[in-house]
Amino acid sequence: MEAKNKLRMTKQRQVILEELRKVKTHPTADDMYQMLRKKMPKISLGTVYRNLEILSESGIIQKLDVGGTQKRFDGDISIHSHVRCVDCGRVGDIDVTPKYNLEAEAQKMTDFMIFRHRLEFTGLCPICQHKKKATA
Ligand SMILES: [Zn+2]
Ligand SMILES: [Zn+2]
Repeated sequence: MEAKNKLRMTKQRQVILEELRKVKTHPTADDMYQMLRKKMPKISLGTVYRNLEILSESGIIQKLDVGGTQKRFDGDISIHSHVRCVDCGRVGDIDVTPKYNLEAEAQKMTDFMIFRHRLEFTGLCPICQHKKKATA
């Protein structure tokens, strides 16, 4: 992809990328804004949002397709799956490799050309499990 090499790495973009790569929490644009404000007090939510979109469109970061109302971002662009907490929306990584080539299997069943698949798990995170127990 051409765009990958053409993206101009501004100072802001560089810091956004560094901060995102530091965390495993798959933050939303709002979360990122809160993190970045400590380093760059003048940064605006709109700037954070716009840069996250540009970075994900360039393939430098990943925009997650997981359910929930807010988009989440991932600095790890390796192929891995996600688990989403149905209560609080927290997203974690799961490194499962399907035992067989799902793309090839799917290819046999359709006229579409298959590129990849996404696997999303849902469940209850440790904190929400604990809350459930506490109120039970
Ligand atoms: Zn939870
Ligand atoms: Zn992830």
